[in-house]
Amino acid sequence: MEKRNSAHINAQKAARIRDNNLCQICGSRDHTAGHHAVDYQYGGSSSLDNIVTLCRGCHRRVHKGEMDVYSV
Ligand SMILES: [Zn+2]
Ligand SMILES: [Zn+2]
Repeated sequence: MEKRNSAHINAQKAARIRDNNLCQICGSRDHTAGHHAVDYQYGGSSSLDNIVTLCRGCHRRVHKGEMDVYSV
């Protein structure tokens, strides 16, 4: 397993600060985390531009394909 590098961690932190630690879909603060709009396996980067702060519920829905983060 490859360890997450510090650039990735810094980008996650910066994204939360930029988004005020609020879900960018519903505005909740419930277990927010940085979601990668374009996943690594599809060539997504760990840069700030590729990270969107989402709450637990919205994050799960995005991954299930029930929501589209691009429409936010
Ligand atoms: Zn949400
Ligand atoms: Zn995600």
